[in-house]
Amino acid sequence: MKTYLRWNKKSAYSLAALAPLINFEGFTSEPKEGIMVYSFSTKQAQFFYDEVLEFASNSKKTIFIAGGPHPTGSPEETLDYFDYVVIGEGEETLPELINAIQNNIDINKIEGIGYRSNSGEKVYTNPRSNVDLDTYPCFDPTHLYSPIEISRGCPWKCKYCQTPELFGSRMRHRSISSILKFSKYYSDIRFTSSNALAYGSDGIHPNLDKVELLLSSIAELGEKNIFFGTFPSEVRPEFVSDKALELVLEYCTNTSISMGAQTGSDAIMRSISRGHDVNDVIIAVERCIDHGIVPNVDFIVGFPGETPSDQMKSVELMKWICNKKGGKVHAHYFTPLPGTPYSNSLPSSVSKDVNKELGKLALKGKLTGTWQSST
Ligand code: SF4
Repeated sequence: MKTYLRWNKKSAYSLAALAPLINFEGFTSEPKEGIMVYSFSTKQAQFFYDEVLEFASNSKKTIFIAGGPHPTGSPEETLDYFDYVVIGEGEETLPELINAIQNNIDINKIEGIGYRSNSGEKVYTNPRSNVDLDTYPCFDPTHLYSPIEISRGCPWKCKYCQTPELFGSRMRHRSISSILKFSKYYSDIRFTSSNALAYGSDGIHPNLDKVELLLSSIAELGEKNIFFGTFPSEVRPEFVSDKALELVLEYCTNTSISMGAQTGSDAIMRSISRGHDVNDVIIAVERCIDHGIVPNVDFIVGFPGETPSDQMKSVELMKWICNKKGGKVHAHYFTPLPGTPYSNSLPSSVSKDVNKELGKLALKGKLTGTWQSST
């Protein structure tokens, strides 16, 4: 059976990591007969469920495999539509699963999958351990490029976040020699990590010597623009130390830092288990400004239990960052994600006053994002 990867721009980094590990015919933007592999987030789930349902109603010759954040967080639901779910990291599981399907090998021996048995029962095999990043490439330039994944996993337990569920709570790092190998493909180098400034550390206590070794080693490659602590990665505010910012200034091209604040309310900060407080955000923003670096700060509105007063505290912090400090903010509306402690929680609605204030910041070009429910 031929294997295809369902092209999905929002999961391009996952597809880039998986493509070098399997024999496949190509990327496709529609289902084909054979083995179809999907990776998707919660916002995309219904679209792909509908696609699979429609195709399967006309053709029984396709086996559908799903992986990524939503199928990992909600394998039970995903198996209502897909034949197999890869739960967690796919580097080892997906090639084994495709090989087993193609060669009629007992799939019960494959760790980290869910599937529907012939009787329609949903079956889950033993979980699979997390992979060693150095064993697998970030991408293969003959297929698809992606930013260089320097770290995976996160020891923090923010209640809205799928990262610990998907990648585990132990932070793992790609070695500098492996990162250098992939850096050679780029003149502008960007990275993915749950917290770029935690490179080389346990994710709780910074290891800036390791960060400096990484950045200086890449700089030695010559004529590279290094973008560190910025899109598509972000950093935790308490990691934004003077020394960290000095490293960015010394080795990197970026003149901004992307950091997660999420809320301006300490009550919400505690209830979402962020592990830092609002003052840590204020200190980090001040430090950025002192170093001539623009802080790009991420917020979520609509957390469960968030009151209009909590939301207004976020607005006040956003206004301080934008109007007083020259920073920028990005807002999202809270989504309860499967596999997180908030999976069954209801978002709070955004108050009229908050909506108005956020609209004003957006009109001035200080705020980007979507802070209202799409439903
Ligand atoms: S939001 Fe960031 S710090 Fe919190 S658990 Fe997720 S990756 Fe970790």
